[in-house]
Amino acid sequence: MLGHVRAVVVGGGCVGAGILYGLAKRGWSDVALLERTQLTAGSTWHAAGLIPSYARSLNVGRMIAKSIEIYEGLEVETGQKVGWHKCGQLRIANTRDRLDEYRSYIDVAEVQGIRARIVSPAEAREIWPLLNNSGMLGALYHPDDGHIAPADVTQAMAKGARDLGAKIHLGTEVTGFERMPGGEWKVKTSRGDMVCEHVILATGNYARQTGAMLGLDIPAIPIVHQYWMTDAVPEVVERKRQGLPEMPILRDEGYEGYLREEGDGLLFGPYERTEQLKLFAENGVPEWFGADLLDEDFEAVSWNWERASELVPALGRAGIKRNVRGPFQMTADELPLMGPAWGLQNVWLAEGVPGGILWGGAIGHYLSERIVEGGNSIDTAELDPRRFGDHANKNWTREKVREAWGTHAVQHYPGQDMPAARPQKTAPSYDRLRLHWQHLPGCAAEAGPGTPDRDAVHRHGWGERLCL
Ligand SMILES: Cc1cc2nc3c(=O)[nH]c(=O)nc-3n(C[C@H](O)[C@H](O)[C@H](O)COP(=O)(O)OP(=O)(O)OC[C@H]3O[C@@H](n4cnc5c(N)ncnc54)[C@H](O)[C@@H]3O)c2cc1C
Repeated sequence: MLGHVRAVVVGGGCVGAGILYGLAKRGWSDVALLERTQLTAGSTWHAAGLIPSYARSLNVGRMIAKSIEIYEGLEVETGQKVGWHKCGQLRIANTRDRLDEYRSYIDVAEVQGIRARIVSPAEAREIWPLLNNSGMLGALYHPDDGHIAPADVTQAMAKGARDLGAKIHLGTEVTGFERMPGGEWKVKTSRGDMVCEHVILATGNYARQTGAMLGLDIPAIPIVHQYWMTDAVPEVVERKRQGLPEMPILRDEGYEGYLREEGDGLLFGPYERTEQLKLFAENGVPEWFGADLLDEDFEAVSWNWERASELVPALGRAGIKRNVRGPFQMTADELPLMGPAWGLQNVWLAEGVPGGILWGGAIGHYLSERIVEGGNSIDTAELDPRRFGDHANKNWTREKVREAWGTHAVQHYPGQDMPAARPQKTAPSYDRLRLHWQHLPGCAAEAGPGTPDRDAVHRHGWGERLCL
């Protein structure tokens, strides 16, 4: 028997450590984290560590700002370095629509309390002199963004929690759960049972497996992503010699990816489009997979490379030092599943977290607030794990995840309907309206007899109302 605690956190990635830390900071020191191998051994250790605060949703942006606030205080509090580089972030707009998107965001940022401003092409090039982007119209600049060392920040939160009395059990795999007659949970592990009031799942790529132990079909599936690190780049070396500041993380819709300094070189992470995107472990993480990387897949992102090399010629000239390719969880809307599990008392989810380094501190803060205080100080409904509903089965999730990540860098418009996996769930009026829209000008010919035409539905603005 491993003992009796108030809450058990399953999973020792950045998210699990953030939750343990959050609970301990709120005075719940009688808590434990169970990790099947080592802290950070899931997706956390190989993340690029980017902390971008750009969110068009008011509350999502506020939550991300909380991560930054927590991470900035950790080094002083715990004595553990977190490798925080507050280099800023620059997002290039090459189209009028993208610039409009950034302009409309500025007011949101102000309410979020996040510093952001639009910069001219000339200023953008001053901030990022290696950029050869003559077609740009402007850029969005976040001076307070940056990147952090994923393993270090996880260890710092784990240390902060331990210092406050929380326990961490490594090499302890959770194998099942049992509700006890008194309402407590028995957590079965490879090293004996542990009894607790609250169970919190933060198991990264294993989410579907862990959820299944509790009868939950978790709407998340891991996708595979990669980045490359280059050899030393003379321009970067020269900047350092001159004592110039680190250039911001650079995002450009022209190459659909991120680029930042890494040591004396560059780190480039291109976004995989839907057609090239690979999923991982749809049927469960295989036994052989541990803290491993997957084989490089240049083909999937060759166009991003070519484009990036045109826009940043220094990247094109650099030698490649290392590829890092691995899986991480994705949801249909690229937001975490954070909050109560449906149908179960005192079971909480922090699963399907795309961007666990970005989210770790915030989820730790807000989920612990929800558990300990019984509610949240800001509206966290956008992250509620119950937001999808019964239709979000594995087939639906697979299609939506492919669409979500595969269009990550593509322009999205407010209220835009995304077509994948429709019509998984239909309104009662669906059949009648479908007949009707086939008679609308232009729709019948495109739809063909009896064929639902998704584009036509969306053009008429009915997608949200008719099917999900
Ligand atoms: C190439 C690449 C670049 C990335 N770059 C970024 C980035 O710049 N910024 C960012 O925010 N994110 C980035 N990510 C995503 C990020 O890596 C993940 O979102 C994040 O690590 C998820 O953290 P987590 O704590 O949810 O899961 P994990 O880190 O996977 O941790 C889950 C833990 O749960 C444990 N576990 C599972 N099942 C059990 C069980 N039954 N019992 C006990 N323990 C269990 C696992 O061993 C694991 O340690 C990147 C990912 C990749 C692949």
